[in-house]
Amino acid sequence: MRIFIAVAAQSSTAPEPAPARPETTRLAPSPTGALHLGNARTFLVNWAMARTRGWRVLCRIEDLDGPRVKPGAADDLLRTLEWLGLDWDGPVHVQSTELAPCERAMASLAERALAYPCELTRREIEEAASAPHEGPHTDSTESSRPGAVFPIDLRPALESRPFTDRATNWRLVVPDRAVAFDDAFAGARSFQVLEEAGDFVIWTKRGEPAYQLAVVVDDHRFGVTQVVRGDDLLPSAARQILLHEALGLAPIPAYTHLPLIVGEDGRRLAKRHGDTRLVRYRDEGVPPERVVGLLASWSGVCDAPEAMTSREFAERFRLDTMPRSERVCRAEDERWLLDTR
Ligand code: GLU
Repeated sequence: MRIFIAVAAQSSTAPEPAPARPETTRLAPSPTGALHLGNARTFLVNWAMARTRGWRVLCRIEDLDGPRVKPGAADDLLRTLEWLGLDWDGPVHVQSTELAPCERAMASLAERALAYPCELTRREIEEAASAPHEGPHTDSTESSRPGAVFPIDLRPALESRPFTDRATNWRLVVPDRAVAFDDAFAGARSFQVLEEAGDFVIWTKRGEPAYQLAVVVDDHRFGVTQVVRGDDLLPSAARQILLHEALGLAPIPAYTHLPLIVGEDGRRLAKRHGDTRLVRYRDEGVPPERVVGLLASWSGVCDAPEAMTSREFAERFRLDTMPRSERVCRAEDERWLLDTR
């Protein structure tokens, strides 16, 4: 009892906890291509959830994808999001303009023997991974492109190192355990990251953080507590949770992963399915309300497309009536956009 009293007395002199920060989300487009109907649906839902729940909305350009970044694409994305009726709070953050926080995170991981440099090429890893058995192709040796699972026996001795060689890939030492989390839409999920991806790359030989590290560091720095995005990134959530834990960054954001919009072949909506870029519809005179109206019909807001503003969408959208399966973008969807100009 005496011990309890002593502890209680001590804690009463502790500093007051920081005032609660507002829930915060981010729109995080990659300037590797234009906004199309698929990613527009995700941004619209993210924004609508934020605006009806009182979350702050940040905007972040994720331009650390090296050669895939297209000049001018970032500005086009921002203008197109505005045309659709979305807005955000505060200035746009461009990831490539500030790498020091990621460098500090790398130094901390390397020093604590939680990351190591790896000069193996993609081919060498693939060869090692395919002998003696073929591994599923889930992760990458560079930010987001598919590659072989990194076999654990390629891991060097784990020791404290300075983070000096920035022109090499660095990998996270992934623990051999399940990473479980409760997704607000996709439900309870669990990933064996070591089996599915191996020690994934967190710093690339281009001298830049890989997507996984940059997301975690920037989400924490800017106080992001809510991540809403496509469910192709569910496995990434598990990797990002591991990084939050390794870096001691709390709180880990809440995740909402939404089913993707796919083409008639069942693959994620992309160029091969035709030109569904929003700038194309805008240039052809389609009003943004019709685009929002189509996205509304895909999001459980209405059964058939009906023109509405982004504000009206936000008022009517409910996460619990959002369709649970992938939505196919069909020719008739496009006809609804184009027929009534
Ligand atoms: N930049 C990614 C994309 O456009 C989103 C990443 C994220 O939300 O974490 O797909």
